[in-house]
Amino acid sequence: MAKAEPRKTFAIISHPDAGKTTLTEKLLYFGGAIHTAGMVKSRKSKQATSDWMEIEKQRGISVTSSVMQFSYDGYAVNILDTPGHQDFSEDTYRTLTAADSAVMLIDAAKGVEPQTIKLFEVCRMRKIPIFTFINKMDRDSKEPLALLEELEEVLGIRSCPMSWPIGSGIDFQGIYDREKQHVELFKRGEKERNIIPLFQDEENNEKVKSIIGESLYAKLEEDIELLDIAGDPFDKEKIDSGLLTPVFFGSALTNFGVEAFLEYFLRLAPAPAPRMSDKGEISPDSNKFSGFIFKIQANMNPAHRDRIAFLRIVSGTFTRGMSVQHVRTGRRVKLSQPQQFLAQERNIVEDAYPGDIIGLFDPGTFGIGDTLVEGNQAFSFGGIPHFSPEIFARVRAKDAMKHKQFHKGMQQLTEEGAVQYFTTAAPGAETLILGVVGQLQLEVFEHRMRGEYGVEVEVQPLGYSLARWIKGDKKEHELNLIQYGGSLTVRDREGRLVVLLENEFAERWAKEKNPDVEFTSTSYE
Ligand code: GDP
Repeated sequence: MAKAEPRKTFAIISHPDAGKTTLTEKLLYFGGAIHTAGMVKSRKSKQATSDWMEIEKQRGISVTSSVMQFSYDGYAVNILDTPGHQDFSEDTYRTLTAADSAVMLIDAAKGVEPQTIKLFEVCRMRKIPIFTFINKMDRDSKEPLALLEELEEVLGIRSCPMSWPIGSGIDFQGIYDREKQHVELFKRGEKERNIIPLFQDEENNEKVKSIIGESLYAKLEEDIELLDIAGDPFDKEKIDSGLLTPVFFGSALTNFGVEAFLEYFLRLAPAPAPRMSDKGEISPDSNKFSGFIFKIQANMNPAHRDRIAFLRIVSGTFTRGMSVQHVRTGRRVKLSQPQQFLAQERNIVEDAYPGDIIGLFDPGTFGIGDTLVEGNQAFSFGGIPHFSPEIFARVRAKDAMKHKQFHKGMQQLTEEGAVQYFTTAAPGAETLILGVVGQLQLEVFEHRMRGEYGVEVEVQPLGYSLARWIKGDKKEHELNLIQYGGSLTVRDREGRLVVLLENEFAERWAKEKNPDVEFTSTSYE
């Protein structure tokens, strides 16, 4: 895509089944990137399975769908895929570190669900703007005001409805656009947008009333008045810093409200952001190329050991074949076969710009969080933190003779971000504890240890479900956790102190007993 097109790089955060695939498909359709419905759909596999082929298929397919780029209305749009379902892993969180904004997709009947909460937390940590799309209005839904209250109560974010639904389920009649002061009427199967101005002249008001009916009209009038008086006003600054979320209603499946959403989103979503480095902020306008790696995808086929490293461009222009500096090792690397991702096809990129994501063939050089820079610039972007795993297991090689290969595999797989590991502090009797976000990650780990390092591993599940990093330079004995069995003090790979906890109850307990200790759900740099 040409440089002149401003970039909008974002991720969709949602709980499984809220309609992310459907919405993505509609967005790609508007961008002309796909021509038939169902193309995005095909990448989803419904069954959780540890079968080798299945894992490979899932991984292979998700390489192409990791980033989808299309043009719309003069913008180049990059959608970063956030794997969900059985694919949910630390990658899902890491992907959010490469996005400039997020679209939070919510099922109108279900409200805010667990996976959305977790992903929202990462967005909040980064203070990026969040746009909310409340989906499935063509089905019976919760009251729209109750949904806004839920955003505030569960997520702690204020909201500003940009559109407002008229009825829901079989009574769903459309949406009212508060800024443009018009209604967009909903009719199943209708492709053309049917827009009528409202609250501006009597003739149109009567027309709308006759279509949506007296009672929905009265309710709409009342709701809009209430929002105007009591709702949060539109405030671009608050949106930009993630304190206020603009809310849109619609139905992705019937393609209703999606175009209106896209137009507002492209206007309001931020341009590629500068990024902090150890030498100060690096602006996207700086001429020299720089970027960071946020995700590494291994090829599951043992015959092809190559990996793909996903790089987000922060500044300058990337051109194919350019030589860059890999800051961590000081080595020069030639980026000869970069790939870019256009909906379902992989293409070789000739050039790319700040906000774009490119996939680089990686013979094993790159690690998560690595910085690549052009010329002799000497800076490095802040690393990407580790996120709290949810599944923990004690792990060791079944065959003690395979000790060396086991450690090599552990080192490489953690570097590439496939798993995290922790060690118990007990001197002499050190045990390795593996932490992953999703079950599939654990299966992939076992599989790769066997396939790539020739090690059968023994994995013994542990009853913890969260990790909290301890800020500052506290020592194990300074924590008051002894009387409570539901916790374990460990060190992460970088030697930071971490407490593994059974559940949120145990976390509360630990916090109460240690009021002077700061517990964080991500590792800090
Ligand atoms: P994902 O898991 O978030 O990717 O969700 P999908 O896009 O696969 O959608 C889950 C289910 O909800 C599918 O059966 C969709 O057809 C359905 N769905 C998605 N959007 C809508 C909508 O706006 N209205 C209705 N009625 N169903 C929807």
